[in-house]
Amino acid sequence: MQIIPLPAFRDNYIWVLRHESRAVVVDPGDAEPVLRYLSDEGLSLEAILVTHHHSDHVGGLPALLATASVPVYGPAREDIAGISHPVAQGEEVRLPSIGASFRVLDIPGHTAGHVGYYGEGALFCGDTLFAAGCGRLFEGTPAQMHASLAKLAALPGDTRVYCTHEYTLSNLAFAAAVEPGNTAVAERIAACQALRAADQPTVPFPLAGEFATNPFLRSSEPAVIRQAETQAGHALANPVDVFAAIREWKNRF
Ligand code: ZN
Ligand code: FE
Repeated sequence: MQIIPLPAFRDNYIWVLRHESRAVVVDPGDAEPVLRYLSDEGLSLEAILVTHHHSDHVGGLPALLATASVPVYGPAREDIAGISHPVAQGEEVRLPSIGASFRVLDIPGHTAGHVGYYGEGALFCGDTLFAAGCGRLFEGTPAQMHASLAKLAALPGDTRVYCTHEYTLSNLAFAAAVEPGNTAVAERIAACQALRAADQPTVPFPLAGEFATNPFLRSSEPAVIRQAETQAGHALANPVDVFAAIREWKNRF
């Protein structure tokens, strides 16, 4: 199985999982790049996976389903037209057409019913975990998002993370503001700038690299706690409050 990014809109990636002449797509916000790729490559669409209800992730469903009546897996706790297979925590999504299988993870926070798909050494996490960042809290609480990120952080370190936005450089600029002395952040900025200069995506990325550079996974680090307390203007009692203060700061950064 190969996994290919299709750039969409300004900074989205639609992921195509392909094996022989068959393909599965994840979060098709737009049908046009998907249909063009399938046609150019001579691939048949076999299934669709969806992480959450935002239009930049589901907007292509009607047009794709008009061309192929395929199973659509998506969060059971969100109301999304076109989903044929609602899924929730712990369920298995078997995709024999591409020889792959994924386990569903409930990861609320960005939206109330957001799910991720983990399998084949890959994590499709939508807008929950980004490279050096995390999604905005549109529907969930800081405690929910903190727990969802902890759930993802517990996956094997060599997991390759396929998020759905190219936000890495702006996330890293924020990470550098949170921790000006973090040399891993500075090194990652240089590496990602080189990738972007060569028109390459910074996604996927190995999960293990996040622990040193993603401020949203570092709310127990003394330097991060200090910055969060400075931003909040008062002492913060626990990692969730630190996370909330950092997330709040990022919203206005
Ligand atoms: Zn979203
Ligand atoms: Fe999105």
